[in-house]
Amino acid sequence: EYCSGGYHPVKIGDRFANSRYIAIHKLGWGHFSTVWLIRDQLHGRYYAMKVVKSAKHYSETALDEIKMLEKITHTSPSSVGARFVTDIADHFMVDGPNGRHVCMTFQVLGENLLALIKRYDHRGIPVPLVKQIAKQMLLGLDYLHRQCGIIHTDLKPENVLMYLENVEDLIRDNLDKKQDQHRRIRHHSSGRGSHVLPSDPLGCSLTQDRNKPMSNIHIKIADLGNACWLDKHFTEDIQTRQYRSPEVIFGGKWDAGADIWSLACMIFELLTGSYLFDPQKDRSFSRDDDHLAQMIELVGPMRPEFALSGKRSREFFDCHGYLRHIRRLRYWNLEDVLYDKYSFSRKDARAIASFLLPMLQFERRATAGDLLHHSWLEDTAPKLTG
Ligand code: ADP
Ligand code: MG
Repeated sequence: EYCSGGYHPVKIGDRFANSRYIAIHKLGWGHFSTVWLIRDQLHGRYYAMKVVKSAKHYSETALDEIKMLEKITHTSPSSVGARFVTDIADHFMVDGPNGRHVCMTFQVLGENLLALIKRYDHRGIPVPLVKQIAKQMLLGLDYLHRQCGIIHTDLKPENVLMYLENVEDLIRDNLDKKQDQHRRIRHHSSGRGSHVLPSDPLGCSLTQDRNKPMSNIHIKIADLGNACWLDKHFTEDIQTRQYRSPEVIFGGKWDAGADIWSLACMIFELLTGSYLFDPQKDRSFSRDDDHLAQMIELVGPMRPEFALSGKRSREFFDCHGYLRHIRRLRYWNLEDVLYDKYSFSRKDARAIASFLLPMLQFERRATAGDLLHHSWLEDTAPKLTG
């Protein structure tokens, strides 16, 4: 991937934007980019810098991403919801052996929610923490959808990042500590000392300590790299499989409700450690067939008018709106799944299902604004005002 059109080879100590920023360490990477911890020499602050692959398609997509990030940053920075979506600090270009790359800088955040799911060994995150995450996600989405006119289109645990509020101090502490450690390591290794770097200079201190009870969590919705405008879609091919909404599968009309569907899938996964839908293909049906069948088994039949409203509907449904390739369905509603399979109490299962089911409606799906008033979130911070 480090070839023409691909990633830019960043080295520790490299300088960017007329030497204003200096690369400290790699923080992560995705399909489109590598992400680096950088220090702003001008103000002594730290940022995360995303360096996008250089091929034309990636650069053009990145320029759209910047437009949406700027909309997010400037629309209403003092709204509560704005706190729960990443904003952009700066952007510039860098030239390298693989071409010209778009770079963006952000506040330094921590691990993503998939890491948190793994930390609980896929057995589910405690309900009070999930409620906090759900509330912050809804505030962020309400801001994104209603105030910015943006649909994320790729909500999933990997694209939601946790952070601590005093992160700058932590970085400084950790870099000092690691620098000592680094010096020691160099003493003990012969020959290849300069390649021996601590694998994670921030440790897990950017998120909470595993052994400390986590009373409060802060998250931000990140990776706007696939986002689009409510009134301007860039592609119909959206969402990661397990989080994909029914209307997107059969090529129907979609809107901000697509994010709400993904959010329900994500919250279920945080609560149980398992995917809500994980469809597979078989000899007689496709992965899409299985996916639609699993949705119907969980929430009940679709109105034929809805099922048949998409460009690809007739691949999956007959003229009565029944699935063509999967005739026998085993209905198992969400409350019972939570009670029977995941051992929630009847009371908790009922409360969770009553919160998630409005997000899993095929039609007239609840909006982020509606869901913020649901009783499941009543006692969870931040409190709604007004
Ligand atoms: P891509 O579009 O290539 O998927 P992302 O924006 O998802 O890029 O970033 C890739 C990875 O880099 C993330 O999963 C995360 O691990 C890390 N990362 C991204 N932004 C930040 C940030 N602000 N602070 C810390 N790490 C980040
Ligand atoms: Mg990503």
